[in-house]
Formats: sequence, structure tokens, C-alpha cells
Amino acid sequence: MPNKSSNAGHIPIRTCVVCRSRMAQGRLLSFISQDGGICFDPKRILPTRKHYVCPVESCVSALPKWQKRRLKVRGKK
Ligand SMILES: [Zn+2]
Repeated sequence: MPNKSSNAGHIPIRTCVVCRSRMAQGRLLSFISQDGGICFDPKRILPTRKHYVCPVESCVSALPKWQKRRLKVRGKK
């Protein structure tokens, strides 16, 4: 990532998909949602759209439920 010093102080805010709390991007865990599974992307190199979750067990452990609900909604057309 290029180091934009002019942009220093700007912190991107992301929303946790589980509890909907907003946090600095760097504090959240990024992951991508694939068919039937969740794949964490610690290197942030995958070009896919990412989702974010709080680094706390209650949110991480709720991810499978979130994934299920998401697929269900998507499948309904
Ligand atoms: Zn959360």
C-alpha cells in the first residue's frame, strides 16, 4: 500500500457484519465469504469484496450463522 502522508489521520471505518458496530478498519478482522464457507484474509491481498468482523469470540463464532442467513437471502429470488 502506498504511504500517503497527506492522508494521515484518516482512518477508514468499517462495520462488523455481526453486531453492526463501527470500528477502525485496522481493528477488525477481514474475511471473504465463499460458497458455504468463510475465508480469513490476513494479508488483505484477495481482490474480492471483503467483509469485516470484530476480533472478539462472540462475533467470530456467530459468522457461520451470518453466512447461512446470507446465503438464504441470496437464494430467494
Ligand atoms: Zn461485532
